[in-house]
Amino acid sequence: MKVNGVAAIVTGGGSGLGAATGRALAAAGAKVALLDLNEGAAAEVAGEIGGLALPCDVSDAGSAEAAVARAAEAHGPARILVNCAGVATAGRIVGRNGPLDLAAYSKVIQVNLIGSFNLMRLVAAGALALDPLEGGERGVIISTASVAAYEGQVGQAAYASSKAGIVGLTLPAAREFAPAGIRVCAIAPGIFETPMLRGLPQEVQDSLGAAVPFPSRLGKPEEYARLAMAIIDNPMLNGEVIRLDGALRMQA
Ligand code: NAD
Repeated sequence: MKVNGVAAIVTGGGSGLGAATGRALAAAGAKVALLDLNEGAAAEVAGEIGGLALPCDVSDAGSAEAAVARAAEAHGPARILVNCAGVATAGRIVGRNGPLDLAAYSKVIQVNLIGSFNLMRLVAAGALALDPLEGGERGVIISTASVAAYEGQVGQAAYASSKAGIVGLTLPAAREFAPAGIRVCAIAPGIFETPMLRGLPQEVQDSLGAAVPFPSRLGKPEEYARLAMAIIDNPMLNGEVIRLDGALRMQA
């Protein structure tokens, strides 16, 4: 789908993968709205790229609806959504929740899975009201899964479940919206250099990078953004979850 002049929403746009994607979309001429719980961080990126920063808690249906409406007032209804808002845990320790902690489990599912679903249904509803572009496309929705969807580690039950939910959501949503020309895909990153890794000791980060068969390092946010742009560009990519992990396979 063409990007130039098109309205786009990126959740989690204040940091990491979302910020990189917001930058790539803006560089390609999109009108970018960055939705984030951390409005200050989103405002910083928005200032840099000439986009719009909006406060939003994606896990809250009312907050998501208000932010999508404000983005539409400024830019028109979005045709592009990239769901990057997410949390690794309900607390501050990277990647580790007690597997049987109901409160933590609910929180992570609510943000990562239901939050992505919230934005998907709201942006799709707006795009459905737009005329199709050349080639019949009305929109593209990309969510962020994780390799944890396939091989979660001890303490990652909540996170892995939320990301497996994204995998499960992608194909049926793609099939549901296909008659309207809205594509739905997901990216399953391995381990990327973003603030989400903050709290992991440097030597752990280094060993995670070294475990990547090639290119033997952590992913860069720009590499995620490049794949997002490639998905948007390619009308044949639909209903697919693409691993972006350098062939990383984790040991238990
Ligand atoms: P990050 O922590 O750098 O950025 C996440 C952003 O989401 C932050 O700006 C945060 O404020 C925002 N956010 C959190 N909860 C929110 C909410 N309820 N509503 C709105 N915004 C909220 O993390 P990142 O590494 O850029 O992660 C982006 C996505 O990629 C997440 O879904 C994450 O699970 C996924 N992911 C990351 C990695 C990695 O290694 N970094 C690997 C696999 C998947």
